Amino acid sequence: MVYRLSLGRLLADRCPGCDVTTRSGFCAECIADFVGIDDPCPLCGLDTAVPGCPRDSARWSLDRVVAPFDYVEPLRIHVQRLKFAGQRRLGRALGELLAAQISAMPEARHVDAIAAVPLHRSRLLERGYNQAFELARPIAAELRLPLLHAGLGRRRATAAQSRLTAEARYANVRDAFQISRDVHGIHIGLVDDVLTTGATLNALAGALKRAGASRVDGWTIARSR
Ligand SMILES: [Zn+2]
Ligand SMILES: [Zn+2]
Repeated sequence: MVYRLSLGRLLADRCPGCDVTTRSGFCAECIADFVGIDDPCPLCGLDTAVPGCPRDSARWSLDRVVAPFDYVEPLRIHVQRLKFAGQRRLGRALGELLAAQISAMPEARHVDAIAAVPLHRSRLLERGYNQAFELARPIAAELRLPLLHAGLGRRRATAAQSRLTAEARYANVRDAFQISRDVHGIHIGLVDDVLTTGATLNALAGALKRAGASRVDGWTIARSR
């Protein structure tokens, strides 16, 4: 049934990294240039060679982390363009890349729904789109799962996390999220762009669990330290 195919799939795409024609998203050569994390800890996403897993802290609420790439060039520039330079289409290319990693994992079958870290209204107006939602969309499509949107919000605008220390990041997002939908018994795959201290994802994962979610996994395209 040709009419059910999306137009985007019928047209050639261009690789955001090198501009060659691709079927969709990044070409294989550009993907090969992204630095993978060889032996990631399933609970925090850091290379297991790095001492000190943060999962033991009481504020860690994520059950599992998938963050396949190190947050270094050349991937970093693409994430920054998505977040700060209005290049919305990078969300699809990066989301498809993350979707390919996640759909290859057997435990992805146990996830019930996908959610993206919400932006506060003020930031959404400024940027015009939520980059985490753009990343989550192709993942939901690939896994054929619902993408939860309504009922996940931010109570208040928070300062940008990037200039804060780890302690300040956790304090900054404490109680920042509000869940006003039924997530009882649901296993959620929670999507964001980069996991650094885990403050944002853990704050939202904690709020989802207090609202009844059975399990929350954190999925980001990159892991930063
Ligand atoms: Zn390329
Ligand atoms: Zn760990």
